[in-house]
Amino acid sequence: MDQSFPLEKTRNFGIIAHIDAGKTTTSERVLFYTGESHKIGEVHEGATVMDWMEQERERGITITSAATTAFWTPTYADPKDKEAKQRFNLIDTPGHIDFTIEVKRSLRVLDGAVVVFDGVAGVEPQSETNWRYADDGHVPRICFINKLDRMGASFERSYQSILNRLTKSAVRMQIPVGEEENVTGVIDLLTRTYYTFEGDKGKDLVKHEVPASHKDEVEKYRATLIETIVAEDEAQMEAYLMGEEPSLAELKKTLRKAVIANKIVPVFTGTALKNIGVQLVLDAVVDYLPSPLDVKPAVGHDAHTDEEIICEPKNEAPLSALVFKIAADPFVGQLAFIRIYSGKMESGSYVYNATKGKKERIARLVRMHANDREEIKAAYAGEIVAAVGLKESVTSDTLCDESKPLLLEKIDAPAPVISMRIEPKTKADQEKMGIALGRLVAEDPSFRVTTDEETLETIIWGMGELHLDIIVDRMKREFNVECTTGKPQVAYRETIQGTAEQNEKYVKQSGGRGQYGHAVIRIKPLEKLEDGAVVPKNVIREDHFEFINSIKGGVIPQEYIPAIVKGIREGMDRGVVAGFPLVDVSVELYDGSYHDVDSSEIAFKIAGSMAMRAAAEKARPVLLEPVMKVEVVFPPEYMGDVTGNLSSRRGIVSSMEDRGMLKVANALVPLSEMFGYATTLRSMTQGRGTFTMEFAEYSPVPSNVQKDIIAARGK
Ligand code: GDP
Repeated sequence: MDQSFPLEKTRNFGIIAHIDAGKTTTSERVLFYTGESHKIGEVHEGATVMDWMEQERERGITITSAATTAFWTPTYADPKDKEAKQRFNLIDTPGHIDFTIEVKRSLRVLDGAVVVFDGVAGVEPQSETNWRYADDGHVPRICFINKLDRMGASFERSYQSILNRLTKSAVRMQIPVGEEENVTGVIDLLTRTYYTFEGDKGKDLVKHEVPASHKDEVEKYRATLIETIVAEDEAQMEAYLMGEEPSLAELKKTLRKAVIANKIVPVFTGTALKNIGVQLVLDAVVDYLPSPLDVKPAVGHDAHTDEEIICEPKNEAPLSALVFKIAADPFVGQLAFIRIYSGKMESGSYVYNATKGKKERIARLVRMHANDREEIKAAYAGEIVAAVGLKESVTSDTLCDESKPLLLEKIDAPAPVISMRIEPKTKADQEKMGIALGRLVAEDPSFRVTTDEETLETIIWGMGELHLDIIVDRMKREFNVECTTGKPQVAYRETIQGTAEQNEKYVKQSGGRGQYGHAVIRIKPLEKLEDGAVVPKNVIREDHFEFINSIKGGVIPQEYIPAIVKGIREGMDRGVVAGFPLVDVSVELYDGSYHDVDSSEIAFKIAGSMAMRAAAEKARPVLLEPVMKVEVVFPPEYMGDVTGNLSSRRGIVSSMEDRGMLKVANALVPLSEMFGYATTLRSMTQGRGTFTMEFAEYSPVPSNVQKDIIAARGK
C-alpha cells in the first residue's frame, strides 16, 4: 500500500522541544487526529504510544528516536478528496539535555520541524540549544506555543521570547482567544477565522467569525503578517503597495518558499492537552514544511575516490541511505531505522554497508505506525523506513549499491564526560552483559565501553549521570542483566601547556641479541587546524594528536617509525599528572639512531613511549576537566543562595536575566561539582528552582583542586 506515494505529498518532520514543553502530548494528538491511534493516552497516566520503551514511560521522557508513519488530509480540503491526502513520517526527538546527540541525529534525517514551547516559560535553555542545532542543519521550522491553558501562560510573552532569543524572523500566524483556563480557541490571521475544537478530543473544528473584542488586534497583526510575506516576493509586494492584497493561495505559496528558505518562521499556538490548535499545526506542516523534493539533496563521497556525489531523491538513482537509529523491537528483534536519500531498497535483497565494507541482507522492510507494523516490499527515495535483518549495521552507517559505494557524512558523537564501573552480579550475567553492551553501543554513538587494563573491570562512558542510569536500567529490563555499579566518575584528561625536548635511548645488552632504540622528540600543545588546511605527507593528524616525522637521511629507518608512533600513543594513554589520557599534543620526531643488529620494533616502541612520558613531565602538564554550561531558573528571593552555592561549586556566573517573575543565572561550572546539584537546588529553593546543563569545554583544573584529584586517584 502506498509504496509509490508521491514525494511532494510526503513530510518527514520531527517535533522538537524542551523537556516538559509538551512534545509527547502533541505527538499523541497528532497520531489521534491522523487516525492512527484511537485512544489518546495522557502522559501523566503513563500510557502514550510514542514513548514505547517502558522506562521512558516511567520517567516520562522520550529517549528513542523512532519514526512513525501517518496520513493527514488538511482541514481545509474536502475529506473525500483522495488527492489531498498527505503522508507524514513523524520522527521522534528527545528533549533531555543528556540526549542532544539524538536530537542532532534526528535533525539529520528530517526535512522540517515543529518546535514546541511551554506557554508559561517561553524559550528555555534546551530550546535554544536545539534551535542552534537546527540552524546549523538549515532545518525549516514552524513554532507551536503550547500549554496556553496553564496559569501564567502568555502567547505574547512567549512569542516575544522567540523573537528575542531565537530569531527575528518569527511571525504570528494566529492569536489565541481567552487566556489561561479560559482559552477557547485560536484565530487564524490569514483567513480571519476563529476556530474552536469540539467533540471527542477536539477532533471537530468549528469556524466562527472573529469576536468583536479581537477585531482590531486581528487587523493589526494580520497586516504585519501580510507585509512580512509579500516582502519575499517582488510582484506581490508591488501589488500590495498598490492596494491589492494577493490571494490566499498566493500568500501561502510565498510563505511556503520563505519558510523552506529559512527566512520566515511562522508561529502557531494552542494547548495540546486541552485539544486546541494541533490540527492547524498539521495543516501548516503540509503548507509550509518541505517535502523531500524541496530540500537540498544529501551529499556523499565516493568510497574509493572521495569524489563528491549528490544524492538526488530519485528512485532510479543508485541507493544511498543512512542508518540513523538502531532499536530493539519486542516483536521483530533489532530494527534499523533508515532514511533513503536516493534509489530504492527491496525486502529480501542485499545492500552494501560502505562504512563497514560488508554486504548485508534486508530480511524485511517495515513501516512503523503508531500501533502496528506494516510490511512493505520496497522503499523509495525520500522515505523513512525500518529494516529487519541487518546484523553489522549500526547508527550512522551508510547503505548503498555495492557497485556504487559511497559514504554519507557521519553523525559526530560528542566526547563522553562521565564514566562508571559496572560489574555483572553473577557468572550468567557476565556473558549477557557483553552482548547487551555491544547492542547498546551499536544504538548510541555517544555511549562507549572500555576495560580497565589493570583491574579488568568494565567501564561505561556517557554524556551524563542520567544517560548512564538509563543504560544500566535498560540492561536490566531488556537484556535481563543484573549488575552493580560504581560511583559515576568525571572523565578527566591531561594536556601540556609548554614545550619540551627529549632524547631517549633504550639500550639493553644482555647475553645474546641486545635491544636498541633511540628517538629524539620535541612536543608542543596542538594547534587548531585551519579550515581547508592541507596535512603534509609526513604528518599524521587526528582530533587530539599530531605526529610530525622530520627524520632525514635515514638516521632511523622508515620501518621503525610506526613502532615509535605506537610507543608515543601508549605513552599518552596514561598521562603523567594522574594517569588520565593525555590529549592535544603535537609530537615531532626529528632525530635518533639505530643499530644494525640490535634494533627492533619493540625497542623503538619503548623508546617512543619513554620519550613521550619524559617530555610530558617537562612540558608543564595539567589536568583538564569537563566544564558544563549551566542555566538555573529560580524565584528572585533565592538569588543570594543560588549564586553563593554556584560559586562554592567553582561556578562562574556569566549573566543574569529576568524571565517573567523568575531569575535566570547562566554559569560555567565544572562537572565534578555538579553531582547532587538537583537535590541541593530543590531544597534551597523549596522545590521552585530548576536547572539544565550541557557540556561546554574541557579546561585546566586549578592547582589546589588538582592536588585533591590526584590524591583521590592514588587511593
Ligand atoms: P515532553 O516532555 O515535551 O514530551 O512533554 P509532555 O507531553 O510529556 O508534557 C509534560 C507535561 O505537561 C505532562 O504532564 C502533560 O500532561 C503536560 N502538558 C502537555 N501539554 C499541555 C498543555 O497544553 N497544557 C497543560 N496544562 N499541560 C500540558
